[in-house]
Amino acid sequence: MTSPLADDLAALPELLQATRDYAVSVLAGLDERPVAPTPARVPAAPLPVAGVGTAGALAAFERRWAPGFSGSAGPRYLGFVTGGTTPAALAGDWLTSAFDQNVSNRSGSSAAALEDETVAWLGEMFGLTGHHGAFVSGATMSNLVGFAIGREWIGARRGVSVARQGLAALGEVTVLSGAAHSSVHKALSILGLGRDALRPVATLPDREAVDVAALESALAALDGPAIVVANAGTVNTVDFDDLRAILALRDRYPFWLHVDAAFGGFAALSPEHAHLVAGLAGADSVCIDLHKWLNVPYDAAVQFTRHRDLQVAVFQNSAAYLPAITGDPDFFHLTPENSRRLRALAAWFTLTAYGTDGHRAIVTGAIAAAHRLGERLTALPGVRLLAPVRLNVVCFHVPGDPAAVVRAIADSGEAFLTPTVYQGVPALRAAFSNWRTAPADADRVHDLLRDILTPRP
Ligand SMILES: *Cc1c(COP(=O)(O)O)cnc(C)c1O
Repeated sequence: MTSPLADDLAALPELLQATRDYAVSVLAGLDERPVAPTPARVPAAPLPVAGVGTAGALAAFERRWAPGFSGSAGPRYLGFVTGGTTPAALAGDWLTSAFDQNVSNRSGSSAAALEDETVAWLGEMFGLTGHHGAFVSGATMSNLVGFAIGREWIGARRGVSVARQGLAALGEVTVLSGAAHSSVHKALSILGLGRDALRPVATLPDREAVDVAALESALAALDGPAIVVANAGTVNTVDFDDLRAILALRDRYPFWLHVDAAFGGFAALSPEHAHLVAGLAGADSVCIDLHKWLNVPYDAAVQFTRHRDLQVAVFQNSAAYLPAITGDPDFFHLTPENSRRLRALAAWFTLTAYGTDGHRAIVTGAIAAAHRLGERLTALPGVRLLAPVRLNVVCFHVPGDPAAVVRAIADSGEAFLTPTVYQGVPALRAAFSNWRTAPADADRVHDLLRDILTPRP
């Protein structure tokens, strides 16, 4: 038998070693790799017929594609909210593929129990007493699953099962939120509730946090149950809704409380900031992203809920050849996927390797870097913070065209920031959530901005 596949099987140890060596060189070269290159167009290659084996594929990847890849794993990719991958998370992710477990159900492997353990650790870390959880691919999916369960809860209040009877039986649903993330709109679209179901509620003056009095008025004007999406960390200014005040409204108005704590949930790890997420456990569903501030590879988030019965009603996947639902439901009864990779393993590795102490240090380090950049930027002429640095994001106005500044930063190869518009003002955001970021990186970004904004003659 000679074929690339058979040859690769014979040479597997050497091929994995070569891949490992290459990965090591990529990580060692992060500092030289442009943080966010404008990739040159890669000419299309024909569909391979005979195949070149893993060594050939590695060479082709290295030559054709890798040069245009970003340095987003490094310390100065401050666009969006972007985490990196801790060493342990990388090791766990490699082993996820080596073991290739299907965590759809609990039979024949202890992998699902590892996911349970990881979810329980994360639940404890975020203080989510009374919640069950399951891994999903990202915060968008976590929001979507939370709303799907909330939709079923509203149905139950109206004597309808959306899971069985469909949306038409449910009628309209109102979703109330202050400064909802774009993924909330998307999830409502996918779920058939519709983007128009989202009714923006006023935020506090100069804030992205919801005005709880305005929320109360909106709830009082409804004559049935609603979904409230509270925000625990908005992307522009990392503002937090007052979760305890919102929870207090539940004594008077029926609503499903979903908290989008995608990255803001990590405030729970910082003693100085944990108060921002006080009350989180009282929510009906909670979204926590892991590929941001936990620094595990894409794609990983957890969906937490107190209402597993309703979750199973929505997502159950029963068939004669599959295990029946008894005890802890299998994961394919809980999330959109049936077959699922063991996403939990990377999180399990990083939590085991560094513990809450190590992850607290990552969180507080990012917060400190954001504060440092924020303070230094205010000394630059014409630069103005559009909000105080509340956690790990600096949102600031620059003189001139922000798009040109964003481009100049990226073209330098040294850093990457993304533009936004906050309260009608075009702005830049620097979001810190990578474990590698040091105070010196904040200084480098400051110096870069200084040079871009005040060019030397
Ligand atoms: C990033 C983010 C999302 C969406 O997360 P994905 O992991 O990209 O799907 C949702 N909500 C908030 C607050 C976020 O920061």
